[in-house]
Amino acid sequence: MQNWLTKQADLFPERMALFYRGQSWTFAELKKEVERICGHLASLEINSNKRVAILPGNTAASYMTILAIQQIGLQPVLLNFRLSNDELQSQLVDAGLQNVLIDDSLKSRFKEGQKLNVSCLFISELESLKIVPPQIVEDFPNQKIASIMYTSGTTGKAHGVLQTYGNHFYSAVGSAFNLGFDPEDQWLCVVPIFHISGFSIMMRSLVYGMGVVLLSHFDPENVTKLLSSHAISLVSVVPLMLKQLLRLYPKDGYQNSFRAFLLGGEPIDQNTLDICLRKGIKVIQSYGMTETCSQVVALNFQDATRKIGSVGKALFPVQLRIADDKTNEVQLKGPNLAKGYLNDDQRFKSKFTGDGWFKTGDVGLIDEEGFLFIKGRLDEMFISGGENIFPNEIENVYAKLTGIKEIGIIGISDQKWGKVPCAFIVPASSKLPDQEELLSYGRRHMAHYKVPKKFIFVDNLPHTASGKLQHSKLHTIYLENYNR
Ligand code: ATP
Ligand code: MG
Repeated sequence: MQNWLTKQADLFPERMALFYRGQSWTFAELKKEVERICGHLASLEINSNKRVAILPGNTAASYMTILAIQQIGLQPVLLNFRLSNDELQSQLVDAGLQNVLIDDSLKSRFKEGQKLNVSCLFISELESLKIVPPQIVEDFPNQKIASIMYTSGTTGKAHGVLQTYGNHFYSAVGSAFNLGFDPEDQWLCVVPIFHISGFSIMMRSLVYGMGVVLLSHFDPENVTKLLSSHAISLVSVVPLMLKQLLRLYPKDGYQNSFRAFLLGGEPIDQNTLDICLRKGIKVIQSYGMTETCSQVVALNFQDATRKIGSVGKALFPVQLRIADDKTNEVQLKGPNLAKGYLNDDQRFKSKFTGDGWFKTGDVGLIDEEGFLFIKGRLDEMFISGGENIFPNEIENVYAKLTGIKEIGIIGISDQKWGKVPCAFIVPASSKLPDQEELLSYGRRHMAHYKVPKKFIFVDNLPHTASGKLQHSKLHTIYLENYNR
């Protein structure tokens, strides 16, 4: 395929491509600006592995620098600035990188003394490098690596995922076939562009010729204001963001241009979905992972209210099945499945069945109409008295209780039942929820074997840098502090 940016600048030169902090760029302007950055980048010494590490912020400068890296045929390695320096260092070593470009908004995070052990260059410093006429690539071949990003590390070690242009193309096409595409569409990007949720919006913009409104960080008041005043059609959100936005939902709703929230990344509780339904807010549930280059399963507009709780059907390019063994693991096939893990072919190969299906590590069921429901992660499931228990199912039931700010469930050893549920609770206020109430609430809403046998009150729960609850760490905390 022809280079997507060159193509859009040719097809729709006047169309808005990017809006950031009151400034906008058409596709023609974006191309010009990106090519200017390419000139500076071309003078950098790039390792023979063709990778360039970047710690981006959600800023126009980072957005354009990532595009520039692609334009000169290199591979951006997108790193998450919320990781610790040790974690970043190990990803840089894993990817064989000796230098990293850093967004200027992260200056205080990486100031002198807190820098990484590699050569760091703030993006604004690129300007001082001499300009070398860049070689802009003509094609974006399907098999070529477009981006490398690490999985969230929720279940253990994060893996660098090799995503190709073909992967991103089919991902964008699958999404458009589901949501439809209007040339007037503008997608609000308030999720990080180093993560597939944000990066896939950048890639869709280039494939569709669509405008992106970029926000540096998530501020629910600011997003509400923007949705009430600006012609935005779609917003990608994770459950926590949606919950915060619902509290501020204006009486008159958002602008007419608003079509839906695209929700994904984690399980959502039924209560939040019910509120959306009552208020008439369109939420498209979706399911995907870094390895599938964004959503691979999503609900369509017609079924969004009828099949609430389901993550939908496989998008057009994707095939879906549930393993026909006891695991009920969700398995996938399709052209948006990544090429591999960086430096870990073995691990990637081990994710496939003998007949070529990708094992997601998630457990689900497909109903008689073909809709997928995600039950939870295989790694987190435990068995109590012969019954399978998924922590997120219990967590979602308790999410409705006002005295609980957050809850995490793990299975702990029990002589009689093998494992029983144990709850870690962050109380909503200094007054601890009453244990008897927690028990009776659980018994009213769930089968008795799912009701936690132990409640532990803590100040906070362990999360990944992208905000996901880490059950494996809860196990360690339990064994080190409470196993008596
Ligand atoms: P790691 O693979 O390093 O342990 P991770 O799986 O959390 O981390 P991501 O690729 O960011 O890394 O997340 C993909 C996972 O997120 C999916 O495998 C699934 O477990 C979960 N997920 C995504 N969307 C949904 C959803 N709608 N409902 C439930 N879970 C979801
Ligand atoms: Mg994963």
